[in-house]
Amino acid sequence: METDRREFAHERACLECGTPFTPRKSDAEFCAAGCRQSWNNRRLQRGAEVYDLLMALRWDRAVATGLHVFTALSRMAAGFRRQDIAERDGRRSWTPPAAVIARKPHLRAQALAQVRKPAS
Ligand SMILES: [Zn+2]
Repeated sequence: METDRREFAHERACLECGTPFTPRKSDAEFCAAGCRQSWNNRRLQRGAEVYDLLMALRWDRAVATGLHVFTALSRMAAGFRRQDIAERDGRRSWTPPAAVIARKPHLRAQALAQVRKPAS
């Protein structure tokens, strides 16, 4: 529709390569499918190691604490960010938390008063 086209016609920079493009959808972040795939592949690659350490923190706490896994996660994130700055002009490499939570609303935090059981 012509109306939609004009509404979304604002040029923006591709999240992966930084090239300016005119999005066809209001939430488009990439200039081409290849850029979207590269962005997602980086997240998948980085995510596997984060997953392993996060699961250890949650389910193998003694080992994770002994190995300073939280510190390792923080250093890993710092390394990812340095890489983004050096190789991608600092463009964001992660999905905003609000978008992640919107896709999985059951993960939303609840006020403690709603979760607490009444005193017996
Ligand atoms: Zn691109």
